Amino acid sequence: MNQRNEPTFRESVDLMFNRAVALMDLPPGLEEKIRVCNATYTVRFGVRLRGQIQTFTGYRSVHSEHMEPVKGGIRFAMGVNQDEVEALAALMTYKCALVETPFGGSKGGLRIDPRQYDEHELEQITRRFAYELAKRDLINPSQNVPAPDMGTGEREMAWIADQYARMNTTDINARACVTGKPLNAGGIAGRVEATGRGVQYALREFFRHPEDVARSGLSGSLDGKRVIVQGLGNVGYHAAKFLAEEDGAIITGIIERDGALFNPNGLDVEAVFNWIRGRGGVTGFPDAAHTAEGAAVLEEECDILIPAALEGVINLNNAERIKAPLIIEAANGPITAGADDILRARGTVIIPDMYANAGGVTVSYFEWVKNLSHIRFGRMQRRQEEARHQLVVDELERLDRYLGDAWSMSPDFKKKYLRGAGELELVRSGLDDTMRTAYQSMHEVWHERDDVDDLRTAAYLVSINKVAASYRAKGL
Ligand code: GLU
Repeated sequence: MNQRNEPTFRESVDLMFNRAVALMDLPPGLEEKIRVCNATYTVRFGVRLRGQIQTFTGYRSVHSEHMEPVKGGIRFAMGVNQDEVEALAALMTYKCALVETPFGGSKGGLRIDPRQYDEHELEQITRRFAYELAKRDLINPSQNVPAPDMGTGEREMAWIADQYARMNTTDINARACVTGKPLNAGGIAGRVEATGRGVQYALREFFRHPEDVARSGLSGSLDGKRVIVQGLGNVGYHAAKFLAEEDGAIITGIIERDGALFNPNGLDVEAVFNWIRGRGGVTGFPDAAHTAEGAAVLEEECDILIPAALEGVINLNNAERIKAPLIIEAANGPITAGADDILRARGTVIIPDMYANAGGVTVSYFEWVKNLSHIRFGRMQRRQEEARHQLVVDELERLDRYLGDAWSMSPDFKKKYLRGAGELELVRSGLDDTMRTAYQSMHEVWHERDDVDDLRTAAYLVSINKVAASYRAKGL
């Protein structure tokens, strides 16, 4: 990413922040207070593996504690470093403020290639890392609540939750120390799909605003739009799957580690996903052209580009050649500050990361609330809601009999209407509402202020204002 003298990831986030605060009227001291990362803890610990001690380096960075707990994922990847976790922690602060989840921003990472270790070894390493963080309250239901990120998932979160519980045997809220857990370990329905689902809801909301769609040069709805996805991990997979299956989008390109697949008639996302699972990559997948130089497919013609992998993939080296009129940042920081300038000047509409991928932390928030309330969502209301709906259906059936052939209920109505909302439906509804409301707040700033010509700056303005208001209200 640092070719052509690009700033680091953290500097890139700061540049975008600076562009937004230049349009605000914050006292300089407060501006600096919000920008800087409060603390980054580095830990090096040893684990005895395969007969010898191996040393690992991990980080947990806390960007802003204007609200506590602070929140953000833990990433397992070889590229993890202090600059990266600090950039990601800052993005968490702005993300949480934008979508109104009551958290400050944090992020963690462990420098490791998880594919080099078996499950038992990974458990030992994860538990040891969790121990190091928990003993300093960097994992704690009321202070710092991690979640999955690149290279981690439900399994790791279950180990972390259990490790915390072993260290805090009398903490009745222990399960709320981490989110993204499996359902049977205190997780919530819909968390795994949440970030991808959020990308879908974000795009749906964007397409509900024809004037915004027009700014990108596109028109109409999501139906038939050609989409290229980079990264078929948890986020990219769910986003691509839902957009294709439920909105009629055509996934023309999928970029992975070992190259890219391209098919102008559309790729079968599920089939590609299963192929990658079975063979470790996209190479050899039938029904598509394969290019070994995957990054080149970022530059192909399409309507919507979804970078859902690493940061910095759209940078000064390729920004000029990106043809997509609309980019939605499913990953954190996929577009560098320099590339952002180039794309903005060309009129590319970018739906920014802090909004686009906020579905994950939003459903994490629901999970945390569920853990603290010790009850599954919908448990109290569901049957009562069904009973009330039954009353209406009984009346409609009476009408149906009375009117004979003149009228009858639509075929699926009864079944659909009678079903009370369970946890999954409620989670999706809460997520949809969150994504709509947050979009509208950015949209308002984008349209009302002459000095704001992009959604990213609008997103920063909305979120920095909220963080500033919170500091003003409670003091530093
Ligand atoms: N790692 C995800 C993110 O970058 C989720 C964070 C969370 O759920 O706390 O937003």
